[in-house]
Order: sequence, then C-alpha cells, then structure tokens
Amino acid sequence: MTQRASISTYGLYINGAWSPSSDAATETLYNPANGEPVAIVARATQADTDRAIAAARHSFHLGSWSNVDGAERARVLSAIADLLEEHVDQLSVLETLNGGATVRKTSLLDIPVGIDHLRYFAELAREHPRKNLPYIDFPLPSANAMWREPIGVCGQIIPWNYPFLMAIWKIGPALAAGNSVVLKPASLTPLTALRMAELIDEAGLLPPGVLNVLTGAGSVVGERLIEHPDIDKVAFTGSTEVGRHIAEVAGRNLKRVTLELGGKSPVVVLPDADLDITVDGAIWAAFMHSGQSCEAGTRLLLPSSLHDEFVERLVNRVEQLVIGDPHDLTTDIGPLVSAAQKRTVEEYIKLGLAEGATLRCGGIGGIDDPELANGHFVRPTVFTDVKNSMRIAQEEIFGPVLCVIKYEHISEAINIANDTSYGLAASVWSRDLIEAQEIARRIRAGTVWINDHHLINARAPFGGYKDSGIGRELGPNALDAYTEVKHIHTDLSQKREGRIWVDIVAPQLDESFAEFSNM
Ligand code: NAD
Ligand code: MN
Repeated sequence: MTQRASISTYGLYINGAWSPSSDAATETLYNPANGEPVAIVARATQADTDRAIAAARHSFHLGSWSNVDGAERARVLSAIADLLEEHVDQLSVLETLNGGATVRKTSLLDIPVGIDHLRYFAELAREHPRKNLPYIDFPLPSANAMWREPIGVCGQIIPWNYPFLMAIWKIGPALAAGNSVVLKPASLTPLTALRMAELIDEAGLLPPGVLNVLTGAGSVVGERLIEHPDIDKVAFTGSTEVGRHIAEVAGRNLKRVTLELGGKSPVVVLPDADLDITVDGAIWAAFMHSGQSCEAGTRLLLPSSLHDEFVERLVNRVEQLVIGDPHDLTTDIGPLVSAAQKRTVEEYIKLGLAEGATLRCGGIGGIDDPELANGHFVRPTVFTDVKNSMRIAQEEIFGPVLCVIKYEHISEAINIANDTSYGLAASVWSRDLIEAQEIARRIRAGTVWINDHHLINARAPFGGYKDSGIGRELGPNALDAYTEVKHIHTDLSQKREGRIWVDIVAPQLDESFAEFSNM
C-alpha cells in the first residue's frame, strides 16, 4: 500500500464529549483493499443511544442552537466547512482507507463535493425562516405569516457507500434548520464522520448535544433511534428492505421520515447517440465506485442498430480499466467494501449465467496480482442478452455488474426503463436534446440526466419515485424536510364590533342581531 495510517481509536461522541460504550465493546475495521486493520471504534449499546438522544433533546430545549437565528447558524456551518476544507487531503485518504473508494474519487469528488454541499446548506440557513402571506380575506384586518421551525431531534442513519457525503447530506440540512442530531454511520465506514465530529469538537463550533455520533449495529443503535419517543424525525439512506421496516416503525409513532433507498437505473441510448461520449458515459454510469452507488446506471438499453458496435467498444474499454490499490492515483477500479459484498456480487454473477445472460467480460476471479489477494476485488462485468425480467436486471446488485438489454423501438425502451420497482435515476443519451427531454419526462425517476450520469448537485433535489424512497434531499427546499410549518394569524383591528364569527357562539345583543333572530 502506498499510504499506511496507524490504527486510530474512536469512542462515541455524545453531548460534546468522547466516551467508550457502556459495555466497553469495540469493533475493528479493516482496509477493504488488503484486509489490514485500520481503526478500532466503540459499539454503542441501547443505553448509549438513549444517552445521546437525551443529550440532543436537552440541547434542543435549551435553545442554544434551535433558537439562534439563521445567520448565526449559517456562520457556524460555514466555519465547519472551512475547517473540513483545511483537512481535505486527510479526509480523502481516510475515506479511501475505510471504504475502498479510489483516492482519485475521494479527493476529486466525495470530500470536496461534500464540503461544497455543506456550504449550500449554510446559505439556506441564512434565508429568513418567516414568509408573510398575501392578504387573506378575513372580515377584519389581520397579518398572517408562515414560520419554519426545527422539528426537534433527528435520528439519521446512513450507508457505507458514500460515508462522508451521506453524513453531510444528513447533518447539513438538519443543523441548518436548527435541529439537534444523533447520527449513526454505517458500521463498516464511520471514520470520516468520526473525524469530522472530532474537528468540530476541537474547534468548539457547536453547543454540546447538538451533534452526536454513535457507531454501532443497525439492529441496536438504528432500531433504538427509529422507535424512541424522543426522536421526532428519522432520515435514512440505505436498502429498500430496511427502509420499509423504518417506515413501518416510524409510522406507528407518527415520526416524520425521509427515505433514500435503492435503484436499478436505466441508461437509455438512442440510435443517434454520439458513441465517443456515450461509451465512456456508460462506463462512468455503471462502474463508478465499482457500481456501489444507489443511482448507478446498471441497465444499459441499446437500440439493435447500435448494439454490436457499442458492445464491442464498451467491452474493449472495460477490459483496459486498471484494478488496484485505491490509494494509487493510477487505479480506475478499487475493491468492494467488504468480503460479504463481494460474495453477494459473485452470487449475482453466477445467477446471471444461470438465467442465460452472456458474460462478455469480467466475471468471478481473474485477479492474479498477489498484492490484491486479500482485497475484496471484483472485475467490472458486462452481461449481454439480458432480458429485463431476469433477476440480475430487477434486483440491486450494488457491484460492478452491467446488464445490456437490446430494444427495437424507443417506446419499447421507455417501457423497459419503467419496468422496475425502483425510480431513483436514469439517463438518456442522444444528439436530439428535444427528443431526449421528452423521453426524460416519460421515465418515472427522481433524477434524469441527458448525456450524463451521477451528476448530483446540492442545488438540485435528489430522491426516488416508487420503491426508491420517500421525500427529497438537497435542492432549494432541502430544509423543508427538517422543519415544521407554523401559521401565525395576528388580529390588527383590536375591536369587538364586526366579529360576526364570535356572535355564532357569544352574540352581542344589539339591534341587528335582534332583527336577524326575528326572521
Ligand atoms: P442497509 O440498509 O443494510 O444499512 C444502512 C444503514 O442502516 C446502516 O447504517 C445500518 O447499520 C442501518 N440499519 C440496518 N438495519 C437497521 C435497522 N433494523 N434499523 C435501523 N437501522 C438499520 O444498507 P447497506 O448495506 O449499508 O447499504 C447498501 C444499500 O443501501 C444498497 O442496497 C442501496 O440500495 C442502498 N443505498 C441507497 C442510497 C440512496 O441514496 N438511495 C445510497 C446508498 C445506499
Ligand atoms: Mn467537547
């Protein structure tokens, strides 16, 4: 390995202080590229989770964050962004070490983009939370305003594929709106979120209890967060299966909930697509981060007129991708996050063969470099002759497996694109931008890129149709999911006369009312 970090140890971050778990349990984390230990983290218990929730609840009541004005919250979030910026290199290496994303991606994308997104949430915090409503035709003059207020304590649960970015997407808008937070990173990849908490803590940027970070199992910490009566809102990114369970539990207690779940995004290539752009684009869509992205373009829909030429160019290019140490700047494809994930992906490759798809490149094994022997590497794999009804085309694989599906007419391509339980993202590739936009409108997904893929920006909303989730993150309304709306009506007349609605119950016995009662 070109980069080697000494083993760091992290506790639980509760109420502005670090502590071991109540039963002293820890977990060792391993580098997915070589199996070497990289850190030891605490495993929180239910009692630790309760303590973090109590700290968050207390801080919310005190108002030391929930009651400060938006401009001050914006100032603090910008200061956090500045601090993270000073540590971009360290955070990038840590993200690579912990999750196996290539350092090319963590240093160009994950960390700097996360910081940019935090700056955007800071901007949103600054926007005044009150909006005066247009004149409302109440009989007497009144002023009416709409306020946005923080919901309270947010339990936030995130997956392992984009550990830093997901942490920012959760704590950024929640804190910008004035909530207190208990964040649970994925068990496999907590290191950049812990390092972020450490930096924020050392700089004393947030009042104690406003941000708490708990490492531990989903079945312990996660379960407690979703059922605890003092959690007002649950925000979750992860699998559709766990998301469904969270919605059920949260629904029983009427907690607010947002869910960002899985995907099986189509990449729809039209017959007039520019192949120089589209072949590389399809590789970017499918194999970025070894396919471990919820919005990955995993179903490549090719018109029969282009199919053979496209596949040949695609496979030639994919076979040249460099698989290796993710710390190495020349590496294109790093390892999967864990041995379990590698096993899951290999099961799907076997399934694809059993279902009758044709393996064009990649597949199981075939990595001979002894340096990589203990890493969780899977070669980028392309299947052709895939039918959309096959399980490899319907189920989320979350690995470097691309399914190529041939179509004859564009109406058929749109049907195939929509024939999935998911609806997170899609892309359409064509020189005809008008037609591409018409097709984009007909695909039921939360984001559709035209001649691109994966370009997620804090200034645009992100989230899923159908089984891909509930609600949206990012975009100009990103704080809505973290605020309650309050209407305040203020009477401006200060008179008893003319309040005929009060007369319905407590009439003034004047002449007009007497006339009315004689009718
Ligand atoms: P997962 O759903 O198993 O875990 C996600 C998080 O939930 C982890 O922090 C985990 O500890 C926690 N968790 C697990 N069981 C829980 C429970 N019963 N109660 C509360 N929390 C629980 O998913 P994963 O394996 O970490 O990540 C891979 C999956 O996440 C993929 O299948 C993909 O579909 C999905 N994903 C979606 C998005 C998105 O933006 N839509 C992003 C990344 C990943
Ligand atoms: Mn402290």
